[in-house]
Amino acid sequence: MNPFEYRAGELCCENVRVADIAERFGTPVWIYSKAKLLHELQSVRAAFSAVDPVICYSVKANSNLSILKLLNEAGSSFDVVSGGELFRVKRAGADTTRVVFAGVGKTDAEIRQGLEDNILMFNVESEAELDAISAVAQSMNRVAPVAMRLNPDIDGKTHAKTTTGKKGNKFGMDIERHNELAAKVLADPHLELRGIHMHIGSPIMTTDPYLQAAKKATDVVRELRSRGHKTNWINLGGGFGLSYRGNEAPPASEYARVIVPLVQEAGCRLALEPGRSIVGNACVLISQVIYTKREGGKLFVIQDAAMNDLVRPAMYDAFHRLWPVQPRVTPPTDYEAESIPGCETTDIVGPVCESSDYLAQKRAFPPVNRGELICTFSAGAYGMAMSSNYNSRPRAAEILVDGDSVSVIRERETYEDLVRSELTD
Ligand SMILES: *Cc1c(COP(=O)(O)O)cnc(C)c1O
Repeated sequence: MNPFEYRAGELCCENVRVADIAERFGTPVWIYSKAKLLHELQSVRAAFSAVDPVICYSVKANSNLSILKLLNEAGSSFDVVSGGELFRVKRAGADTTRVVFAGVGKTDAEIRQGLEDNILMFNVESEAELDAISAVAQSMNRVAPVAMRLNPDIDGKTHAKTTTGKKGNKFGMDIERHNELAAKVLADPHLELRGIHMHIGSPIMTTDPYLQAAKKATDVVRELRSRGHKTNWINLGGGFGLSYRGNEAPPASEYARVIVPLVQEAGCRLALEPGRSIVGNACVLISQVIYTKREGGKLFVIQDAAMNDLVRPAMYDAFHRLWPVQPRVTPPTDYEAESIPGCETTDIVGPVCESSDYLAQKRAFPPVNRGELICTFSAGAYGMAMSSNYNSRPRAAEILVDGDSVSVIRERETYEDLVRSELTD
């Protein structure tokens, strides 16, 4: 399902012309398709339905309240990594008893909040954190539900900055420490080992790392039960692939094929924490060409979306498809092709004063003039969520499309917003 299609020579989102949205709300602007968002959630749910999973959408991928509300209404739960995200999902109406809380640096205040909200479990990343959770639980006269985050030492074969399940990452713990801490939990009346957690990295484009992770998880659960734990949850994290290029990511059903039988065999409940695969292709970023220039033997298109809006290319060397909204050349099937008829090798850059401020480099791209619109595809995950005000650039508006209808789900920031919390005398 692709809601962002070229019809009659121009890009549409569902039934709305993207150019109309840009004209009405300005650029840069994020445009979401409600149908696509819900379709992706439903795909994961359907794929894993045999084990009735709790799908904890990973809020850090995109934390807009309207997005969270839509997902909540569609039956999603949430994975949060901070008190701020917990605050957001409550605002969105979430049932916090199905929320999981991850992150290597939870503060006592965040732990207390999680306990007050009766969350499903804390994903514990270290012994020090386990001790802190126990102490806070004791002070509240509570039993804290925990799942240790196991570093399974699996290579997810993803970017160095987004791999999390290899020995030497800051995340999780190895199996020896896991077993030591499990023994500690058993002896602690304020802790309950509810499950095991793993998150290998992102995006993981093959199913094999999940097969390995699920095998490890079920082995560990059996071992824990034999030692007297009532462990019942396997949380395999997120990291499902996203098709940034074409159709390269496996569908949820393929991940399910390797995971579901093992979870069934172990008689466990399954939690998943997908973020990118749910929201990534439900959103595009639309920008407008400010100038073009030729310098140093290169053609630059300078447009008004920058690394403060979408930092992924600068931060992770990420690839995003880009194409004009009203193109003079038909969109290609291979956006990475070195040459495309009618196109020229182009760097598409933003106005921020950093050489790493680009959306694409050395890209075959059709000719564009000042004022023309460009679409950056697959922008919904780690796009707006990672945006900043660098170079004192107000953050862009977010627009939700539902069929023919268009609504603002976040207003464009103003210059006043930029200085609102700063104090001068
Ligand atoms: C980031 C993260 C996720 C989500 O990863 P995606 O690639 O967006 O699916 C899930 N779980 C944990 C613990 C994470 O840190």
